Amino acid sequence: MKLTRTVTTGLGVLLLLCLPALAQMKALQGKVVAVADGDTITVLDSGNKQHRIRLLGIDAPERSQDFGTNARRHLSDLVFGKQVAVRYDKTDQYGRTLGKVMLGDQDVNREMLRAGLAWHYKYYERDQPTQDRDVYSSEEARARKLRLGLWSQTSPTPPWDFRRGESRQKSTADIRHAESGETVSTAVSTEAVYVTRTGEKYHRGSCRHLSRSKIPISLADAKRSYGACKVCRPPR
Ligand SMILES: [Zn+2]
Repeated sequence: MKLTRTVTTGLGVLLLLCLPALAQMKALQGKVVAVADGDTITVLDSGNKQHRIRLLGIDAPERSQDFGTNARRHLSDLVFGKQVAVRYDKTDQYGRTLGKVMLGDQDVNREMLRAGLAWHYKYYERDQPTQDRDVYSSEEARARKLRLGLWSQTSPTPPWDFRRGESRQKSTADIRHAESGETVSTAVSTEAVYVTRTGEKYHRGSCRHLSRSKIPISLADAKRSYGACKVCRPPR
């Protein structure tokens, strides 16, 4: 990141245009058909294709954390059943699109910060346009100052710390942590479970629902954004 900053500062806009990851934002449009938690939604496009969207630049409390339910409800109240546009340029290892969700002119990711229901996710801020990075950072600072939402707590646990604790306790699978890029551990355990590119559930390796795609995920991460399949009944 430091290198990127130095280089762009030094050579300016010309070089920036040569970096496709920064210069090219793609867009998709569709209806929000599911809200998994405060930073993950599913969008159904006009071609009837589902896209699982991870809201870029924010990290909302996990469902089992304090304010996790509030965050999910707030996001759901905002976008569920509505038409949104998603600007993105990347997909993560679980097939989720990392994007900025727009409801008309409203930046939904930013709204979650404004309401005090998410952290500005600094691990990913390098993927954000500089302007968004600054705006998101100050929205978080403002919400903190006003003690809105989760900031009403004296010392809220950031979701990335919470997940790390869960991973240590519950999973020994050799899976890079979805959000931080850390390797959690090396031993493969019986608790490795799988998700599909577009599904809402996680599964055992043998499940028939995995015929189209089969993406390994740690149990902790699976439980965070997916429900347990009722057919194969994976560990909970
Ligand atoms: Zn299953």
